[in-house]
Amino acid sequence: MNANADPNTTANAQMVFCRACGRQIHVSATSCPGCGARQIAAGESEKLLLPAFVLCVVFGYLGAHRYYAGKIGTGILMLITAGGLGIWVLIDLILLLSGSFTDSEGKKLKRWV
Ligand SMILES: [Zn+2]
Repeated sequence: MNANADPNTTANAQMVFCRACGRQIHVSATSCPGCGARQIAAGESEKLLLPAFVLCVVFGYLGAHRYYAGKIGTGILMLITAGGLGIWVLIDLILLLSGSFTDSEGKKLKRWV
């Protein structure tokens, strides 16, 4: 038998490792069948929307949600300008709700919890 005929050889190209248990799972899997850990898609932020949203509502004028997302520079700018006098905070809230808010790596925050 030719080892190259192993059907897993082609399948491996679409396999990734579970972030929690290291088990090999398909790239399209939203959760690990082994441990149940939620998987994060490429280009998707590890940061969650819910804490970012709560921080934006409560401490948005301090730029708290931007610190959370790793955007320290604009977070400080937000603190100095009191959230762009509230307008910037409002824009960020809309971005968060529409799933367009990005973290410091330019990845979009997609998951609420
Ligand atoms: Zn796992």
